[in-house]
Amino acid sequence: MTKKDDKKDKAGDFSCSECQTRNCYRHDSRFPKFCLTENNQEIADETRGLYAGEGLDAKVARAAAELEAEYYGRLTRLEETVVFAVKLGAKKMGVASCLSFLDESAIYAKAARSAGLEVMTVGCKVGSMDKTEIGLPESHKFCPGEMEACCNPILQAKVLNDWDSDVNVSMGLCVGHDYLFTKHSKAPAVTLAVKDRVLGHNPMAAIYNSKLFYSRVLDFKKYPKSRLVGKK
Ligand code: SF4
Repeated sequence: MTKKDDKKDKAGDFSCSECQTRNCYRHDSRFPKFCLTENNQEIADETRGLYAGEGLDAKVARAAAELEAEYYGRLTRLEETVVFAVKLGAKKMGVASCLSFLDESAIYAKAARSAGLEVMTVGCKVGSMDKTEIGLPESHKFCPGEMEACCNPILQAKVLNDWDSDVNVSMGLCVGHDYLFTKHSKAPAVTLAVKDRVLGHNPMAAIYNSKLFYSRVLDFKKYPKSRLVGKK
């Protein structure tokens, strides 16, 4: 077992989510045995360097921290993303939007433009590529046999890269597509909205209701079955 594996093993089922002291914040308690601060001093030192100077990581970290200091609890997340962009010195804002969020993205663009930003929204079906073109069978479509475009988060990022956006905002992208968009986005990408088709795009409702109405979320065996069972 390497030193790294050993550290992972120690964290095991105990990590920050199980910590009762949260001493990393104010040093007003004690660090638990499995503490990820205590066990990662070397890596922490490496990150310290990234926050120094004028590199992009440093600029983003400072803009985010200033936002918190100046407006804590006073701005909606929508407003925070706009102020964040302004603080970064952005002129051009890209919006990577889910097709079903395009009307909301139009309202968001209006808000961002009011701060003097230029805005370009790229919908997730951009490129109009049929799902079969990325290797999915017809059975995976909602209307098999018909043209049904797949989401194209890589193209969303590339169109915005081409336009030279200074900051990108993701609006309702699917789980997984959000990763691909962020990975391929050249500009810093932040999230305004995440998609939750069941809970009105508020995934935290599953956590807040996990003691009663959504107790199933705590037991993978109780998740609804795939609608494609027997059809693949
Ligand atoms: S870093 Fe350490 S003290 Fe902070 S929450 Fe994680 S385990 Fe607790």
